[in-house]
Parts: sequence; C-alpha cells; structure tokens
Amino acid sequence: MNNHVTVLEIDSKALEHNLNYFKQKLKSETKILAVVKAFGYGSDSVQIAKFLEKKVDYLAVAYTTEGIALRDAGIKTPILVLHPQIQNLQTIVDYRLEPNLYSFKILEAFLSLADRVPLINYPIHLKFNTGLNRLGFWYTDIPKILSCLKKTTHVKVESVFSHLAASEDLEEQDFTVNQINSFTYISQQFYNHLDYKPTLHILNTSGIINYPKAQYDMVRLGIGLYGFGNDYKETSQLKNTHNLTSIISQINLIDPGETVGYNRAFVAKSPSKSATIPIGHADGLSRRLGNKKGYVIINNKKAPIIGNVCMDMIMVDVTKIDCKEGDKVIVFNNQEMIQNIADISETIPYETLTSISQRVKKTLK
Ligand SMILES: *Cc1c(COP(=O)(O)O)cnc(C)c1O
Repeated sequence: MNNHVTVLEIDSKALEHNLNYFKQKLKSETKILAVVKAFGYGSDSVQIAKFLEKKVDYLAVAYTTEGIALRDAGIKTPILVLHPQIQNLQTIVDYRLEPNLYSFKILEAFLSLADRVPLINYPIHLKFNTGLNRLGFWYTDIPKILSCLKKTTHVKVESVFSHLAASEDLEEQDFTVNQINSFTYISQQFYNHLDYKPTLHILNTSGIINYPKAQYDMVRLGIGLYGFGNDYKETSQLKNTHNLTSIISQINLIDPGETVGYNRAFVAKSPSKSATIPIGHADGLSRRLGNKKGYVIINNKKAPIIGNVCMDMIMVDVTKIDCKEGDKVIVFNNQEMIQNIADISETIPYETLTSISQRVKKTLK
C-alpha cells in the first residue's frame, strides 16, 4: 500500500471532457487511439486505461512491458505497441499485444514467428517514415513489404500509419502537408494491393487541431487527453488532468543570517518562516525550480521554493503565509502552473508530466 502523502490526483472528469473535446472535432466514425505510454504521461496507465477502456477504440504504449502491465490489469482493449524489439515479439503475442513493425528486420522476425506458432490473421501495424526520420519503413519498401505479405495468412495488416514531425508548428505547414501527401500515396498502394483495407492514421494531438482533414480512419490522442493543446487558446478549452499535491511536514523559524538547505543557498535577511515539503527532484520536481524560481500554493498563497531542491524535499518561504504542519500544498493543479514549471525547467509540459516519478502516489478520482 502506497501511503505516500505526495499524491498525483488524476481527474477523470477532466480526462473525459478532453476526450469529448477532441471527439467533437472529428467525424463520428473516426476511431480514437488513446496514447497511455510513459505511465499515462506520468500518471498511471492502468487507471487511465481502465477509465478509457469503453470510451476509445485503441490504446497505445511505447514498449512491450507497458502493454503487459495493462493486460495484467485485465484491460481487454486492443493495444498497439509503438516501439517493440525483436526480442519482445513472442511476449507480444503471449499478451495479445499488437506490434508496430517498422523495418524488414522486425517484420521478417514477426512473420517467421507467426509461421512457427502458427498465428492466423494476427493484427500487425506498419509504420512509415514520411519525414520524421525516426522509426518506419520508406515508401520505396512497399513492393517488398507487399510481396512478404502475399505469402502469408498468418498476419493481417490492421493498420498503416505514420507520424508528423511538426504538427504543432504552422510555419512548417508545407512540410507537414508533404508528409500527409506521402502518407496518402502509401495508403493507396496498400488499398490497391491488399484485398482488405487497413486502418489509416497519422495525427497526434496537435495534428488533430491543425490538420483535421488528415484524420483518415483513426487519430492518436496523447497530450490532449491530459489537458494540453498546442497553444493557449486550445489549452484553455481543455481541462487539467494531473493535480500534484503534498503536505507541510515541518515549519521552521529562521533567524537573520541563518541559511536553508544544501550549500546554504538561501540566506535569511530578516526573521523568516520556512515549510519543508516531502517532494524533491526524485519525485520529478526539477532542480531548476530552486532558489525562488518555482513556487507552490499553500492556503491560496504563493510560497517560493527557497534554496536548492533536494532529492526528497523542498523548503518554501511561508513567512507571510498563515499555515501549520499538515496543511495541504499544491504543486500544480492547472495547466498554467504546469506550463510555468516547464518554462522554468526549459522544457515542455510533456516532460514535466512524464517526469513525475513512480514514488508519487497516483489516484484517479
Ligand atoms: C507519443 C505519440 C503520440 C501522441 O502524441 P501527442 O503529441 O502526445 O498527442 C502519437 N503517435 C506516436 C507515434 C507517438 O509516439
């Protein structure tokens, strides 16, 4: 039992609101794949998946072990594993996970496994590189892929997909439209040469916002589910899902000239009051938030983080805040606070959310 007092509360009403917000942007027949990789963007993939199970068509994780966790928790929804390795393929089949096959090496390994078992019409997903240059086949690989597939009834191409490199950046519109056009060409080849139609998908969250015409049959919704669009306007339509809170462990009165924390980084100039809170950089709170760059909220007031962020604790200035040991501390409970932490940490909300470590207790409410 995790009784840790530092808790990430996942707001299920906000999740549902965000899902519906994106659904109403899309055609009613467009399928939704919810991306729950990296512990559901730093929360809890099992709790998120259980909540979304009946509301979405697909789930996706990055790695096989993440998919296993969902199956072990009894999740029955189809699960796409975005980045499997050859050594995981047997496990993928054992857990009825669906592999993204992105190179001949892994396609051939899966086909030979499918042959050996043998599998019948096992769903596979083929990823194409249209410009991100990360993972995927090239369009020039299509004839050889088709000839591999012609020889087998052990697998079925459940989907063909690609991933946009700069869907959030309207200055890269020409590049993105090119990616979409390449993907249309690729899809056509499969439509022409297979006697069934694989599901097609290319859009992530900001793709849905900026290029809804390219929704094809399915979209892959990640960060949007968790409350972030690609600009202030979109984000303001979404609700925050990740609420990180803790409590005050101890309050100290600090005399002028005394210091707080490692390296004596905070020096009290006048009589001060500090509060110690059980959350530190090992919980995912960046060290860059130290020395008054970041703050928490205690009894509706901002309490700046003083001195250095420790591994397991921070100290905040509560000189002017009426508070006592045991009082609630809000680390963040809206998108502005998360964006602010991301800005100070010189990163993006994706990293701020996924940094929240496994030590933090996660509860879906
Ligand atoms: C992570 C990921 C997504 C989700 O992207 P968001 O920007 O969070 O919506 C979609 N597709 C692929 C291939 C991914 O790796």
